[in-house]
Amino acid sequence: MFDHPAFDAHEHLLHSVELDAGMYAILAVHNTARGPALGGLRMQPYATPGDALTDVLRLSRGMTYKNALAELPLGGGKSVLIGDPRQDKTPEVFHAVGRAVEALGGRYIVAEDAGVGVPDVERIGEVTAHVAGTRADNADDPSPATAWGVYHGIRAALRHRHGTASLDGVRVAVQGTGNVGRRLCRHLADAGAELAVADADRGAAEAVAAETGAVVREPGAILAEPADVLAPCALGAVLDDTTIPALRCGIVAGAANNQLAEDRHAAMLAARGVLYAPDYAINAGGVINLSYRGPAYDRAAAFAHVERIHDTLLEIFDRAAREGPTTAAAADRVAESRFAGAETAR
Ligand code: NAD
Repeated sequence: MFDHPAFDAHEHLLHSVELDAGMYAILAVHNTARGPALGGLRMQPYATPGDALTDVLRLSRGMTYKNALAELPLGGGKSVLIGDPRQDKTPEVFHAVGRAVEALGGRYIVAEDAGVGVPDVERIGEVTAHVAGTRADNADDPSPATAWGVYHGIRAALRHRHGTASLDGVRVAVQGTGNVGRRLCRHLADAGAELAVADADRGAAEAVAAETGAVVREPGAILAEPADVLAPCALGAVLDDTTIPALRCGIVAGAANNQLAEDRHAAMLAARGVLYAPDYAINAGGVINLSYRGPAYDRAAAFAHVERIHDTLLEIFDRAAREGPTTAAAADRVAESRFAGAETAR
């Protein structure tokens, strides 16, 4: 275990099996320097337990970085439940997960992830208090906060590149006008940007165009749209060996998760002179907002925290410019400074 390539000094790793309940799970707590580890439970019919272990270690480490970059008082953790979400979900399974979460004594807080929904998290919550994202949390749509964070991230990228965060006359191409994309378009248009939009659902793009004065492009053409900024807000893995050489923008800054097809594509973007806003830094608005949820929810405070994505990105861009090699690598170093610093203070 300690030699596993993804082990990376995890603080706790709990393999939990309850045969009667049919529960096989792994709970991983990577780092709690900033606070209890928050991360989702993923349910998947992993081919082997080894695959489940690799997945949970990688995801858990990723949460440490994500939560630290977002300046949340939270560490990183994750859990995986081996099973098919279409047929293996029972109350007993989730109660057994709850007992495993409880065994970690609050070091890990479980939330939903792929294959696991709010009702499942609520089942877990019947046996442990260490759950997040239940209906009692009064959590709603994260998209407005995500869009607000991406908007401020784009401003940071413009400031780094051009010395001013003004959007007046700046051309932005937005791929995907769904929950996040259409709200982002409104913010950008209000600030004076000129928009080109595309969506697999042309009607969705046209509705945004009618509201914002955007031009509508074909989905296949938007990534190569001549623009100052490209904002991918649809799918993951849109930046690859084919699309990167065809880009005609100076900045890529959007909401989509996992925009780089592979890690090496960060270097390819840098080599082309494209400033890339690492996705996990710029799209954190939704989780930041969620972290404020509860009876005392203060929208103004939550959205002010979301706006700090601007400063985080400036720090990342400056660091990449000083030390190289890519903004993706610099984001990891900024995150590390935030959780390593917390560790020292503690
Ligand atoms: P959404 O499903 O509401 O919108 C996605 C839009 O993209 C849809 O309108 C869809 O028709 C369109 N689309 C799909 N394929 C396309 C293609 N090939 N070309 C053009 N358009 C295409 O999703 P969302 O909530 O707006 O999230 C957008 C992205 O941001 C996703 O990658 C999501 O993982 C990521 N993200 C969202 C949030 C959030 O708060 N919603 C938070 C973090 C990250």
